[in-house]
Amino acid sequence: MSGSYWIETLGCPKNEVDSEKLAGTLHEEGMTLATSIEKADLVVVNTCAFIEDAKEESIETVYALNEVRREGSDLVVTGCMAERYGSELQKAFADDVDAVVGFGVPVTLKEKPTIPKFDLLNLPRPKSDNPWGYVKVAEGCDRICGFCSIPSFRGHQRSRTVDSIKQEIESMNLQEVILVAQDLASYGRDVKGDLSIHNLYKTVSEMVRWVRLLYLYPSSLTKPLIELVANSPVPYFDLSLQHVSGSLLKRMRRWGDSSRFTKIIEEIRRQNSEAVFRTNFIIGYPGETEEDHDELTRFIEENQIDWCGFFVYSREENTFAASLDNQVTAGLARERMQELTEMQDGITAQRRDSLIGEQIEVLVDSSGSSRSFRESPEIDGVVLVPEHLKVGTFSTVTVVEATGTDLVAMGRIS
Ligand code: SF4
Repeated sequence: MSGSYWIETLGCPKNEVDSEKLAGTLHEEGMTLATSIEKADLVVVNTCAFIEDAKEESIETVYALNEVRREGSDLVVTGCMAERYGSELQKAFADDVDAVVGFGVPVTLKEKPTIPKFDLLNLPRPKSDNPWGYVKVAEGCDRICGFCSIPSFRGHQRSRTVDSIKQEIESMNLQEVILVAQDLASYGRDVKGDLSIHNLYKTVSEMVRWVRLLYLYPSSLTKPLIELVANSPVPYFDLSLQHVSGSLLKRMRRWGDSSRFTKIIEEIRRQNSEAVFRTNFIIGYPGETEEDHDELTRFIEENQIDWCGFFVYSREENTFAASLDNQVTAGLARERMQELTEMQDGITAQRRDSLIGEQIEVLVDSSGSSRSFRESPEIDGVVLVPEHLKVGTFSTVTVVEATGTDLVAMGRIS
């Protein structure tokens, strides 16, 4: 099949991996990447259905691309929204799109999907343009978090084999691999044998210099894994906390409370005082009281986490939380989020300021832009460096300025 394609990706890093694999398949079928949407024969929107805002953005993107695509091209909607609302979307977009296809269905030009099962996880993917890349090690999730609908349409966890993960990494020629899954710390639990995130991390660390783990469910963060990551070249911990109030976490059907989380953070800092933390919190989950909010505020202030994302709770149908009483009003949730965001911006800026004068190792992502272990690509800040530093190489530079989330660094020591 010849022709050109354009893929627009919304949502999280896991979706980016799916898009790259889709691109890999289209390449194998003889298609090439179009120079613009207007020139593409096939336009694909890989949607996100995580929260209400993400769904709206996905729908707006479909309509926007429909406006600009060329006459005679095919517009295909795939991803989480397609999976979750397949037939409804098909009806809603009947006049605008050519096909709505869920995961596991091939996206092809001028051919409507015919094969019902398609293993997106093990598809080939094209070489990355970046020195870093996401590698999805499992699909689905076995947890039952009250706010989350992902298990209902992504299904139970299916871990990939170590061999298939290794093959994918070898084919990508990367300096940094970022392992992702819905519940990364549970990698391997769905299969018999010794598959575990701990062993996988060790294996991948022998292949590439930097390995980063995203989305670690806190109860699965074992001491040996903490030790391993804290003493690695990337002591970066993306802890999936969601809240810190024990009673609210129970309503979320999740593990933990502020004292347990503080102990985890203390243990990590005991192993490596420079370790960096990222986490996300949901604000305004049904039943969140002023006391819960105060507890979260205190926790953030006391633990000085480097990077925090805040999301206002979004009521999703077919979730446990949708039926809970004591829904928090949107106005109050936004107010709480605003307060926390302002406080966190101050903490992040302070932690970035403290790096001025430090020599740090960076990986140059593109001309003039790099990252140290402290920054996850496309999620945290960047380190601006002189443009003569070669893309795709590591360099040691000196931080001379901090501008909120970003750092400015000069000079090349080695
Ligand atoms: S761990 Fe919880 S929030 Fe994450 S995908 Fe699984 S059910 Fe959803």
